[in-house]
Amino acid sequence: MDTYGLIGKTLKHSFSKRFFTEKFEREGLQARYELFELDTIGLFPALWQSQPGLRGLNVTIPYKTEVIPFLDWLSPAVEEIGAVNCIRRGSHGLEGHNTDVLGFERSLREQWQGEWPEEALILGNGGAAKAVAFVLKNLPGIQQIRTATRSPKAPGECDYASLNRLDWATCRLIVNTTPLGMYPEVESLPPIPYEILGATHLAMDLVYNPAETAFMRAAAAQGARVANGLDMLIYQAEAAWEIWTRD
Ligand code: NAP
Repeated sequence: MDTYGLIGKTLKHSFSKRFFTEKFEREGLQARYELFELDTIGLFPALWQSQPGLRGLNVTIPYKTEVIPFLDWLSPAVEEIGAVNCIRRGSHGLEGHNTDVLGFERSLREQWQGEWPEEALILGNGGAAKAVAFVLKNLPGIQQIRTATRSPKAPGECDYASLNRLDWATCRLIVNTTPLGMYPEVESLPPIPYEILGATHLAMDLVYNPAETAFMRAAAAQGARVANGLDMLIYQAEAAWEIWTRD
């Protein structure tokens, strides 16, 4: 039977397992989705040997970067971001993809109306922020992408205290990639000057639990459009399925 699955160190509540198991049942597909807990990434080659039906994997913490040396081919997004969350056994051997990139781009394109803004602001500087930055850099029209981080180092990075000096009339897209506001810390939110936001801004949160985060509430209270990360989560899973099953 075709097997798909998720590798990580400790796997308990998995959206992917639920998503794909329900999909296989609904569509009558002879396939299964398993959770593979690996104590070290050194066990990755043995997993493929022990699972002859294995067609594709999702990858989660802490192996998104550590798995790269075991792969034969990397997508351009993975080459730039340095993180893999989807692996397929394909014509290049083991291929590394990043479906957060695909999921975020599809969700953003559905949410954004009109011309792309001149500037965009990413809150947080972790793995998801790199996927978001990759998408924004490749959109036509966005000339400047800033990242707000608690410890700015590189060009384009700034601290939260300096955000009130930003030109918010041109910076009309704000993406929260920090875990602030995620259950159970539902009252926490990124420290940005919300009072400057208005109807021309879109505030996107990658957090999806709760469905309306404190960040979204604060932005919406100023008239901004808001979206959570649920569509991105679903679209990244759909993108993985498309990658695993393409010819
Ligand atoms: P990560 O690698 O740990 O990065 C999170 C970043 O947020 C950190 O690098 C940090 O940046 C910032 N941060 C963390 N705690 C903070 C705090 N208390 N105050 C201010 N900034 C803080 O995590 P990730 O993998 O990028 O994931 C980030 C969030 O996105 C998670 O909530 C995750 O569930 C969500 N996510 C959603 C989807 C989806 O499909 N919707 C996909 C991927 C991730 P600095 O240290 O530079 O400030």
